[in-house]
Formats: sequence, structure tokens, C-alpha cells
Amino acid sequence: MDEIIGALLSEDSTAQDFAGVRLPESYRGAVLRKEDTGMFEGMASADKDPRKSLHLHDVPVPLPSAGEALIAVMASSVNYNTVWSSIFEPLPTFGFLERYARLSPAAARHDQPYHVIGSDLAGVVLRTGPGVNRWKPGDRVVAHCLSVELESSDGHNDTMLDPEQRIWGFETNFGGLAQLALVKSNQLMPKAEHLTWEEAASPGLVNSTAYRQLVSRNGAGMKQGDNVLIWGAGGGLGSYATQFALAGGANPICVVSSPEKAEICRRMGAEAVIDRNAEGYKFWKDERTQDPREWKRFGSKIRELTGGEDIDIVFEHPGRETFGASVYVTRKGGTITTCASTSGYMHEYDNRYLWMSLKRIIGSHFANYREAWEANRLIAKGKIHPTLSKVYSLEETGQAAHDVHRNAHQGKVGVLCLAPEEGLGVRDAEMRAEHLDAINRFREKTPS
Ligand code: NAP
Repeated sequence: MDEIIGALLSEDSTAQDFAGVRLPESYRGAVLRKEDTGMFEGMASADKDPRKSLHLHDVPVPLPSAGEALIAVMASSVNYNTVWSSIFEPLPTFGFLERYARLSPAAARHDQPYHVIGSDLAGVVLRTGPGVNRWKPGDRVVAHCLSVELESSDGHNDTMLDPEQRIWGFETNFGGLAQLALVKSNQLMPKAEHLTWEEAASPGLVNSTAYRQLVSRNGAGMKQGDNVLIWGAGGGLGSYATQFALAGGANPICVVSSPEKAEICRRMGAEAVIDRNAEGYKFWKDERTQDPREWKRFGSKIRELTGGEDIDIVFEHPGRETFGASVYVTRKGGTITTCASTSGYMHEYDNRYLWMSLKRIIGSHFANYREAWEANRLIAKGKIHPTLSKVYSLEETGQAAHDVHRNAHQGKVGVLCLAPEEGLGVRDAEMRAEHLDAINRFREKTPS
């Protein structure tokens, strides 16, 4: 690994240097163990602790086969899927790996007694497999997390519709929370050169997801002037949805749960912010009964902030707890677009408010390569900025996932992999200086 680190840290390294480095036999990654999948049985979700299930292990280096690339990972980030994987909910990820393994000999490599997780990375290409022409050793890249096979016709209009669509580092092995990672070459995109490695690694999954869900024609197709209700606007997805709304001339109505997160939304430029804790909304009277009076109270607050207007698009992901309210506050003909169910996937809403008012619910999931590329392009152009708040070492991945599980974080949290310290990797200092305030908006402590 030392030879690789040497090449990574020298500004003079050439493509030949990277192509020539000797690969080690093993590398270190944040892994889950198959033997641990029952460890939290009988516990409430909130009590399941990723620090107990995520371990740093040495695992064998997988060599890239056709269409794949091996990446030296400088930095990665924690996503909510890191939390789901590490608490083995809704299902242990090993079942995904077993199913993938049945597809082909190359896919069979993913079925191991360990799962190296992680769905984001920024790093450098080390090796490419046969059939990879566009990328070469030495290229500085980020990877989006869509893994597809595209052998079926279904995925050829929109690759998210491929029957063999998977989320890399969640439904496949050899993910980004590690020193090395194996990706398909059609996951690669250029790294934004005004960002550090850890900043560049942090938007990927959530930025692309928010782009499809809110902006793309495959999602809500947001337009100028739309009132967009954004749940969790200070969190991973929401911090990018808020920026897309602002950059696209829409009007974000940000929902958060603390004054600190409200302040962060204002720093991004949002004017309409609702602190759901301070307002004390109780959409459910008990586990089975919702309270429509609370939906109305929420709707009145929105009208107060919009000058009497209702919501054109709801950016949904909390799920069961908020979905009834989301459907209610959407205007006639408006759209509820959902990509998740953090608080429970059995949603309940009053369908009269949906059909009588001709509202639409749109399911959205990650993003196709083009959408991920567009979202990454906006990062590279400095139109959308990383929302990195805190950076952990690879050893501390369990703690980072624990903090996200407790909702104790803001924006995104990053993880250093081969990068020995924060602040490395910037090649466009001029552009960075231009956007520094926006890049640091979420930072708990501005790095020195
Ligand atoms: P995150 O960083 O934890 O942010 C989620 C935010 O939602 C939190 O900051 C919290 O904000 C808010 N929230 C949580 N529970 C809530 C509740 N019961 N009611 C209202 N607000 C609540 O997570 P994320 O990265 O944004 O991901 C959110 C969800 O989307 C996860 O379930 C994740 O797995 C899923 N996801 C799906 C896709 C996909 O492709 N389908 C992609 C990315 C993420 P406040 O406490 O400030 O209100």
C-alpha cells in the first residue's frame, strides 16, 4: 500500500506511475461480517449500534474484470444506507450479495463472508479491466453508486429501470469505505478540482438522488417559482434539494428539527424555514391514528411563509410519520415525490385529498448515469456545493454511522481513507477561493 500512497501524494505522478504501482494482496476496509447478522435481534432500531457491527478488516484485493476499475480511495462518506447496512435493516445485505452472485462468475466474487460497504468515493484510478477505454490509471475521479448490467432492453431508456440495477457498496461488495474499491467504469465521473478529496466524496449519492427526485423529468421536474417542501433540509438529501430549489428559481420551504439546522438553511439562502420541534407537530395521535388537525396546522404555517400559497412539490423521505401531512399540504395538481421511508414504510394518507385534488405520487430511486453526471457537473461548476460538516478517519466509520443514526449530524459526514489528512486534493485554488464560504457553510469547525 505504501507504493500506492507514495504515488497518490506526489504531485508529479504520471499515468505510467499509477499503472506501474504494485498492487498489495490485501487492503483495509470498513466491513460487516456475515456471522454478525443476528447480533441485534429483538432490539429496537434506535438501540442498534453501528459501532458494534462495523469493523476495520484486511480483505483480499479484487482485480477488475471486464468493464471495471480498481480505485485508490482517498475519501468516502457515510450515507443513510451505511446505517441500514450496519443495523441489518430492513434486511442483512448479505442476501443481496448472494443473489447478485448467481448472475455471473464476475458477480460471484461479491458473495463473501464480509461486506465492504460504502456508496461514495473520491480517488484515483489504479487499474482498469478489458473494454475500459475512457478511463485510465491516474485519472482523478468520483464514483456514483449505480451498478447495472444492461443486458435487458428494460434499462436502455433509463438505466435505473435495468432489472439488474443495484446500489454499489450496499447491494454489491467492495464499496467505498475502504483503501481500495471496485467499481464499474460507467460509475466514474471527473472529480471537481476546486474541492478537497473529502469534500468531493461527500455529495455523490445524495446529490444525484436529490437531482433525479426533484429536478429531472424522471422525478418532479421542478420549475421556476415552485413552492418545494423539503423535509430534513439540513440533512443529507435535503441539503442538496434545498440548493437545487434555490439554484433553479424555486422557493424552498425547509423543515428541520433544531435552531442550528434552521440557521444552516438560512445560510444556504432559504427564507422559509420550519422548526418541526419548536412547532411541536404530532401528526400521529397514537401508533395507528393520524390527526388531520395537525396536518391543517402545518398547512397554515406553510401558507404563512408563502403568502397564502400551497406546496407544488413535496420532497419526501421520512415516510410513515410525515406522509399523510405531505399529501394534505400539496396543492391541487401538485406532486409528492418520495425516495425513502426512514420512519416506516407502511404509509397511510387520506386518499380523498389525492384523487379529488388530482395530486401525483412519484417514486424515485437514486439516479441514472446521466442524472448523476448532471448533478456532478453542477458541483464542478460551483453551482451546488458540498455540505460536509465533519470528517472521520476510516477507523471511526462505526462512530460516524452511529452519529448519522442518532440524527446528530448535519449535511454529510466524510471519511478519510488513503488521504492522510483533510485539505488535500485541490488543483483549482482560484475557483476554491471564489466559493470558500459556500463550501464551508456546514463545517462544524473550519479546517485550518
Ligand atoms: P439524513 O442525513 O439522516 O437526513 C434525513 C433528515 O430527515 C434528518 O436530518 C431529519 O431532519 C429528517 N427526519 C428524520 N426522521 C424524520 C421524521 N420522522 N420526521 C421528519 N423528518 C425526519 O439522511 P439522508 O441521507 O437525507 O437520507 C434520508 C432517507 O433517504 C434515508 O432513509 C435514506 O436511506 C434514504 N435515501 C434513499 C435514496 C434512494 O436512492 N432511494 C438515496 C438517498 C437516501 P430534521 O431532524 O432536521 O427534521
